[in-house]
Amino acid sequence: MSTHFRKLALIGIGLIGSSIALAARRQGLVDVISISTRRQETLDEARELGLGDIYTLDPAEAVRGADLVILCAPVGAYDTLAKAIAPALEPGAIVSDVGSVKEHVVKVVAPHLPANVHFIPGHPIAGTEHSGPSAGFPELFAGRWCVLTPGPEVPAAETEKLASFWAAMGSQVESMDAAHHDMVLAITSHIPHLVAYNIVGTVADLETATQSEVIKFSASGFRDFTRIAASDPVMWRDVFLTNRDAVLEMLGRFSEDLSVLQRAVRTGDGEALEAMFTRTRAIRRSIINAGQETAAPDFGRPHEAPPVPETNIVREHGGGDDA
Ligand code: NAP
Repeated sequence: MSTHFRKLALIGIGLIGSSIALAARRQGLVDVISISTRRQETLDEARELGLGDIYTLDPAEAVRGADLVILCAPVGAYDTLAKAIAPALEPGAIVSDVGSVKEHVVKVVAPHLPANVHFIPGHPIAGTEHSGPSAGFPELFAGRWCVLTPGPEVPAAETEKLASFWAAMGSQVESMDAAHHDMVLAITSHIPHLVAYNIVGTVADLETATQSEVIKFSASGFRDFTRIAASDPVMWRDVFLTNRDAVLEMLGRFSEDLSVLQRAVRTGDGEALEAMFTRTRAIRRSIINAGQETAAPDFGRPHEAPPVPETNIVREHGGGDDA
């Protein structure tokens, strides 16, 4: 199966778009990369980084003659973008995307597209909390899953061609139904983000004195939520606006389970707490075994001990070496 495309058009050139540009170029998967984005300064940044060959603010211009088009903007912009590119699409082109929700994408993009292109929605399950063209790196997709959700009308050979493109960038590829994707991602990605946004938001609302203590002692757990809660606000706003039903369904289950834990804490049911925490530990082990996380302690953070200035040592009871 050929993974080679003549012209790849990337509409939106942030973390995901720039990572695709770098990975596709490195693997020799395309001859020409054409880039379009909303703001001139982002386009200039992409040009300075040498991410493509053609740069334009006009998405229709970018897709002209492209045999692969990938929407890499926030999902909320898809409707307008699909409308804009539709008249300029090359017959036979594959049109895809990277959006974190899939049913909504089908709903807003498909009606605008001509019948002679192949629409194959996609979602690389890979990312970081950084945004913009300079955040991308070609290894982003290595060892990570990419989900494709083609409709029944798409010829298998076209889906295979796109799957080979993602595989050549290092992804493992799986096809599934768009609604199923949204339900799975609601619990594996969207609810964890909502929980992180909530816990970090709670701290943001605390009075200043308490807040500074939380930041000082953040390595006790809070810090790991802040990585997720630093994710792009616009992208995540769109995820919750467009995957509402699946998120609410999973949030219902989450709330019920939280109530069970709350009750166990209140009644001092140590057995229930220990049983739950033992089950969750096993889930982490299976994620490591599946190659989706490092087994290194503390997420593999480097642990050279920084020198501790004497003034930072707080002796709570006035004790010390001579106590
Ligand atoms: P990002 O770094 O914030 O970049 C978004 C890009 O889209 C920027 O180039 C931005 O350009 C452009 N854009 C925004 N609004 C636009 C509009 N109305 N018309 C045209 N371009 C527009 O975002 P990202 O993290 O790459 O995410 C992009 C997509 O990937 C989203 O749909 C997201 O759901 C999906 N995704 C993200 C992750 C992740 O972890 N970040 C993972 C998987 C999938 P300007 O600067 O010119 O506005």
